[in-house]
Amino acid sequence: MKVMVIGTGYVGLVQGVCLAELGNDVVCVDIVEEKIEKLSHGISPIFEPGIEELITKNLKAGRIKFTTDLIGNIKGNEIIFIAVGTPPDEDGRADLKYVMAAAKEIGQNLSHYQIIVNKSTVPIGTGELVRKTIKKYYGGKFDVVSNPEFLREGSAIEDWMEPDRVVLGDSNGHEAANTVAKLYEVLGSPILITNLETAEMIKYASNSYLATQISFINSVANICEKVGANAVEVSKGMKLDKRIGQKAFLNPGLGYGGSCFPKDVEALIQIAHDNKVDFKLLEEVEAINHLQRQRFVAKIENYFGNLAGKKIAIWGVAFKPKTDDIRMAPSVAIIENLINLGAEVVAFDPVAEENLKKLIPEVKFASKADEACKDADALAIITEWDEFKQIDLKKIKAKLNAPVIFDGRNIYSPAEMKRLGFQYYSIGR
Ligand code: NAD
Repeated sequence: MKVMVIGTGYVGLVQGVCLAELGNDVVCVDIVEEKIEKLSHGISPIFEPGIEELITKNLKAGRIKFTTDLIGNIKGNEIIFIAVGTPPDEDGRADLKYVMAAAKEIGQNLSHYQIIVNKSTVPIGTGELVRKTIKKYYGGKFDVVSNPEFLREGSAIEDWMEPDRVVLGDSNGHEAANTVAKLYEVLGSPILITNLETAEMIKYASNSYLATQISFINSVANICEKVGANAVEVSKGMKLDKRIGQKAFLNPGLGYGGSCFPKDVEALIQIAHDNKVDFKLLEEVEAINHLQRQRFVAKIENYFGNLAGKKIAIWGVAFKPKTDDIRMAPSVAIIENLINLGAEVVAFDPVAEENLKKLIPEVKFASKADEACKDADALAIITEWDEFKQIDLKKIKAKLNAPVIFDGRNIYSPAEMKRLGFQYYSIGR
């Protein structure tokens, strides 16, 4: 099929590249010239395993093109995907200005039947709003479909190619949804077709439920610390229950971050408010998540009594491993807090240094994990990158001022750390 993708962020770029890989003819549009320039030369503006290889391969095969020119490229496509950002506004509602700008531009430039598919995460009712916006400018026939994205940064290509499910929402007889489904049938995953509103809700409900699991296990972990239970083993024991499942989000840690869970939880809380539905459970999920970061800083502060002048090494600033995304990352709140309490912070992250520096310029970075520990009074682990799991801890012990580790991700065994002579504080153990 001939498709256009508007927005070349984590979602739009992966959508475009994967559709091209499946043999479709894809035009990716973005308003940021620098991104388009890089992409046209096979350089990805984001860190995502495997993406550059696919960009280069499909550029060479002539199946994908990157441009800032929507008007000159809109004609002839069968499907247009909207994959622009929906960041939270000051009340926590999803800000729809990018989605609406894209809808307006589509409406002003449509000249034949096309299916407009919304991949951005949007409040329930947005599909209808997109339809009305396009209709204002274009009198011909078109359809709007909702196709929420469930990929995870760090394994985005794999998630896109092997999705648990594809959700398509279409309130106009499902003919348009069935056409879009043809793009995905080859993946062999279940395809669920619903009305627009249901598809939009499935995305918010899924992310909010996963976030609820995280806040749940973190609360359990906090009790475990007081009563001598081991939260990691509790989690294992829970996951063996088939109703809970091995893949449940029940790993005690520093809470959820990133560009999706925090904003989607907040947005669903606002949707509940706007519809006068009580959803205190979700408000509590959010509050627990914020507290989890503060508890970690308090643990470090309590250990020293006073953090003024203490040097703390930080491992990992990305919101999770295998990404350079630091949006709403626990590291941001934790580092800001440590600095406010007078600590000096020296951080290391394999790929997210530049992004963090844009947000907190005063943070010093080391070029290697062990160098960050040089003369530090303690090490705090915030992101569980694999390279930290395999590091030579004896070498780290020699670099640190004192053998003290605060592990926010439970990457080491407490027994082994004791054997190595570390004072080791993890989560829920
Ligand atoms: P992003 O901010 O990384 O990318 C958005 C892109 O859209 C940017 O490159 C921006 O320049 C471009 N853009 C904005 N307005 C435009 C316009 N009018 N025309 C062309 N390009 C335009 O965002 P993202 O992380 O890819 O997320 C996009 C949407 O997908 C959001 O609603 C998000 O909630 C949702 N989502 C994200 C993820 C994820 O892991 N990042 C996963 C699932 C769903």
